[in-house]
Amino acid sequence: MPLMGRAAVFEAPGKPFTLMELPAPEVEPGGILIKVTAAGICGSDLHYWRGDNPVPVAVGEPGPVIPGHEFTGVVHTLGKGVKTDSLGRPLQEGDRVVFPYFFPCLRCYWCARGELHACPYRVTRASIKIYPYCHGGFADYFYLRPGHWVFKAPRDLSDTALTPVNCALAQVLFGLHQARPRFGDTVVVQGAGGLGLYATAIARDMGAEKVIVIDGQAPRLEMAKRCGATHTINIKEVTRPEERIAIVRELTDGRGADVAVEVVGFPQVVNEGVAMLRRGGAYVEIGHISPNSNVTLDMSYIVSRQIRILGTMHYDPWVIPSALDFLMRTRDRYPLTQVVSHTFPLERINEAFQQAEWLGREGGSPVVRAIVTP
Ligand SMILES: [Zn+2]
Ligand SMILES: [Zn+2]
Repeated sequence: MPLMGRAAVFEAPGKPFTLMELPAPEVEPGGILIKVTAAGICGSDLHYWRGDNPVPVAVGEPGPVIPGHEFTGVVHTLGKGVKTDSLGRPLQEGDRVVFPYFFPCLRCYWCARGELHACPYRVTRASIKIYPYCHGGFADYFYLRPGHWVFKAPRDLSDTALTPVNCALAQVLFGLHQARPRFGDTVVVQGAGGLGLYATAIARDMGAEKVIVIDGQAPRLEMAKRCGATHTINIKEVTRPEERIAIVRELTDGRGADVAVEVVGFPQVVNEGVAMLRRGGAYVEIGHISPNSNVTLDMSYIVSRQIRILGTMHYDPWVIPSALDFLMRTRDRYPLTQVVSHTFPLERINEAFQQAEWLGREGGSPVVRAIVTP
């Protein structure tokens, strides 16, 4: 009798998740079976749940899938030969771990160059009919293939602190890393949701002198201040983009910010963010994950001001242990380990999605991340 686990299976937008019992995969030598303990509902999960984006199914026939890519768990079964995590620390069954959700193929042009985040074959979600079935976080079990990266989590971080590490936190950390801000720089963050709060604290921790956070919700901006923002701009109070650009210029002796991070996903903020940059500044683009996010940009402005635009999706594995160290190092300084606001058992995943959607729309709460706990 194989080990069986529950999984929340998604068929199509508008249809509720169905809870199914599926066999957990046979663990190969070098593989690891994870018992999922908490999985977050990310903005991108809401996109395909609504039907804005298709669920990426990259392997085999399209079919029902188990979503969920932002999660943590404990080691349930260690495959033959696995004795340590990816940093050489002893690993045992029962240890809490964090890991990248994506599996770079390690045999393509991008992987050969070490650009694992850009591997076109890294999204390998398949339908639940294909081994190892456990392709998503909204389930009891998730399978790490042989050789995949896995990192032991510090004991002092709770499940709720760890859940967003392998998506939201890792993503903004990698984006800021690509932008290479210097010590003492000014960073603008467009949007003070979960990603924006992480971006704010990371920018500060990277040595930013000023972090200017822009949002339309006062409670979120308050939270941003607690996460290290030195200045905030409420778009409900400062209503015209030109005024907001002027504020950023004023705060930077007329130059503009060194780096701006976009984490709202509204095309209308792009020109404003770019106009807030200094000559040679970097625009880190993370929020636009839906197709047809069209923007009209004057490319002569980009050229003459030598702006770097950095499209960012996914990250390299080193980001995970860095993110864990960052959470430990800053846990008494910033309330980042409290970004999860609502917890639901797996059986109530449909309610969890409705609540996450409602919270996102309402936008009044500074902490808007919902998680499910299998
Ligand atoms: Zn995500
Ligand atoms: Zn590859």
